[in-house]
Amino acid sequence: MADTNLTAILYKKDDLRLEDLPVPEPGPGQVQLCMQQVGICGSDVHYWTHGEIGDFVVKAPMVLGHEASAVVSKLGPGVTSLQVGDRVAIEPGVPCRVCSYCKTGHYNLCLDMKFCATPPYNGNLARFYVHDADFCFKLPDNVSFEEGAMLEPLSVGVHACNRANVRLGSKVLICGAGPIGIVNLVTAKARGAAQVVITDIDQKRLDFAKSMGADAIIKVASPDAKAIASQVEEVLGSLADVTIECSGAPPSIRTAIYSTRSGGCVVLVGLGPDLVELPVVNAAVREVDIRGIFRYANCYPTALAMVASGKVNLKPMITHRFTLERSIEAFETAKRGEGVKIMISCSRE
Ligand code: NAD
Ligand code: ZN
Repeated sequence: MADTNLTAILYKKDDLRLEDLPVPEPGPGQVQLCMQQVGICGSDVHYWTHGEIGDFVVKAPMVLGHEASAVVSKLGPGVTSLQVGDRVAIEPGVPCRVCSYCKTGHYNLCLDMKFCATPPYNGNLARFYVHDADFCFKLPDNVSFEEGAMLEPLSVGVHACNRANVRLGSKVLICGAGPIGIVNLVTAKARGAAQVVITDIDQKRLDFAKSMGADAIIKVASPDAKAIASQVEEVLGSLADVTIECSGAPPSIRTAIYSTRSGGCVVLVGLGPDLVELPVVNAAVREVDIRGIFRYANCYPTALAMVASGKVNLKPMITHRFTLERSIEAFETAKRGEGVKIMISCSRE
């Protein structure tokens, strides 16, 4: 029997289908990948339920999925860095490589980025997929395919903690204990943060954060940002050196500013409404730096080294598992907000 390529295709809002597509052939510098594990990200669910995120609109059918691992099944012309049978994690964004952002190492800011499952580019929730070989990272034997897929969100944590300059002895506040808050928590701890306190409005998410190493948790029950900042100050014994905002909720961004010490840094990871009312004078006169992040650049090798060395353990984050055939059920589970990370296994049993 010839190989078939079962693929999860989002036709439009609320219209996700599983269909057989042709098996893609690798071009020069590319590899064909037999997909193994693909994690569901909030953005995949959002494209399914809303058909768009900001300026990115699903105008044509698009394959979902971008947190992925695979086995190399075929080499395109000129590929020497990988071999058939290699187990890899896939960095999902391939930039133009020639613009000034790419050339200065900030390729995450490339205007010509082709990122899996960001319209109009297809993702890799499929049996087979083709990707540029130099954006595939070989996994050592002690790193599982599920962990390989988790390197994608972990890279967001690596980049955010780099931008925040989390270091030995830092007191860190993380706002929001979703998957992105958790990868920031484990990265901050691995970088030697002395204390990490994490906030959320959901007690279950806070309990999970505690089990993943948070030194303290704060349940946010009111939009009074100054009151929550006082709680943070009490728990840490001072204001935070660094705050990493991972909810995108406007009251939480205000809390992030009030909770950060003078001369400290707030990193905005969460993406909420475009226009938000913030205490900017408070930040200005206390020299609190406010920095954004967009995905990551050059972070996969670090994320992989952290997992391979055991400095971080992401395994407890995977709470649900489905097969590719049951992808729609997996998306429905994600939409209900169950668990932390949902994994889809793409290999044939
Ligand atoms: P998520 O929705 O699972 O987690 C967000 C968490 O914030 C939830 O647990 C929610 O209960 C909590 N929350 C809501 N209001 C809050 C408040 N007022 N105070 C404290 N916590 C509050 O999402 P996620 O997958 O963890 O992603 C987090 C955010 O990061 C999203 O906005 C996502 O779009 C963004 N993100 C940004 C980048 C980037 O490159 N900048 C990359 C990945 C994700
Ligand atoms: Zn570029």
